[in-house]
Amino acid sequence: QHHRCQAPDNAVFDPSLLNYTDGKLRLMAELRQGIEQNQLLLYVQPQIELKQRQLLAFEVLVRWQHPRLGLLSPEDFLETAEELGVIYSLTEWVLQHAVASLAALKREFPAMKLAVNLSSKDLLQDELVDYLQALLLEYQVKPASLVLELTERVLTDDPVRALTMLQRLKNLGVELVLDDFGTGFSSLFYLRQLPISHVKIDCSFINDLHKSDTHIAIAGAIIDIARNLGLGVVAEGIEEELVEQKLVRMGCTRGQGFYYSRPFELAGLEPWLRQWHHSSGQAGPLSPE
Ligand code: C2E
Ligand code: MG
Ligand code: MG
Ligand code: MG
Repeated sequence: QHHRCQAPDNAVFDPSLLNYTDGKLRLMAELRQGIEQNQLLLYVQPQIELKQRQLLAFEVLVRWQHPRLGLLSPEDFLETAEELGVIYSLTEWVLQHAVASLAALKREFPAMKLAVNLSSKDLLQDELVDYLQALLLEYQVKPASLVLELTERVLTDDPVRALTMLQRLKNLGVELVLDDFGTGFSSLFYLRQLPISHVKIDCSFINDLHKSDTHIAIAGAIIDIARNLGLGVVAEGIEEELVEQKLVRMGCTRGQGFYYSRPFELAGLEPWLRQWHHSSGQAGPLSPE
C-alpha cells in the first residue's frame, strides 16, 4: 500500500507469501468462505469536530479473523480481493452490517452516522445502487446517516462511468466523501465534478504535520482548494495535540486519528458512546435522546 496509515501490524501474517499465485488463490477461497461464515469483523473510529470536540461520525474499518492466520488487517487481503474479484461480496457484507448497526442505534443515537469505505472496483458493479437502496429500506435507515468513502482511484478505469455511478449513489441520499486525498493523481478538473461533500486529507501528510514544512504546504493547499470548491475537509491520522492545533489554525474543522481514539470493535460502540457523553458532558450532534 502507498501509505502508512493502517491498523498496527499483527505480525502473524506475512503478506509477501501472496506473491505466489497459489497463496493468493487459496487466501481468496478462504475469504469467500470466511465472508459466508461471518469471519469478518468491523472496527470503528470516531470522527471529531476539532474546535468543540464534538462527535460527528464513525468510520467503519474491516478486519478478518482468519481461522489459521489470526486477525488480518485490510492491507493483508484487500488488494488481492480486488484483483481476484472477491471485493464486492466483502463490500455487501460490510454495508449490510453497517446499515444493521445504524438501525440498532437509531433510537438512542438518532444522529449517528457511519462511514463505509468502498473499493474503486465496486463502482463497476451496477447492482450496488439497488442493493444499497433495498438495504436502507429494509432496515428503515435514513440514507443521510450513511457516508461512503471513495478514493480517486474510482476515476482510473472509466471516469465517465464512475461519475454516473457516483451520481446514482448520491441520488439515494447518502453522503459521498473522497478518501486519501493527495496521494492519487488528483485531477482538480474531476474534483469539481464529483458529487462529494468532503475530502479527507491522507494520513501520510497529517501524522508528522508539525515536523514537516512540505506536509504543511500540501495540507494547506488541500484545505484551500476544498474550501474554494465549497467542500469540507477531514484530516485523518491525527496522533498529537500539536497537529490538531496546527490544523485548526489552518482552517481544518474535522479530524480523525489515534489522538482521539484507535479503531475499536463495533460491538463496543454503545458503551463507548455512553462513556464519551458521560466524560465529556457534551451535547454533540451524536448526543443520546
Ligand atoms: P482509510 O479508509 O484511509 O482508513 C484510515 C486508516 O488509517 C485505517 O487503517 C485506520 O486504522 C488508520 N488510522 C486511523 N487513525 C490513524 C492515526 O492516527 N495514525 C495512523 N498511522 N493510522 C491511523 P486500516 O483500518 O488498516 O484500513 C486501511 C485501509 O483499508 C483504509 O484506509 C481503507 O482504504 C481500507 N479499508 C478498510 N476497511 C475497508 C472496507 O470495509 N472496505 C474497503 N473497500 N476498504 C476498506
Ligand atoms: Mg476511509
Ligand atoms: Mg484514508
Ligand atoms: Mg485507504
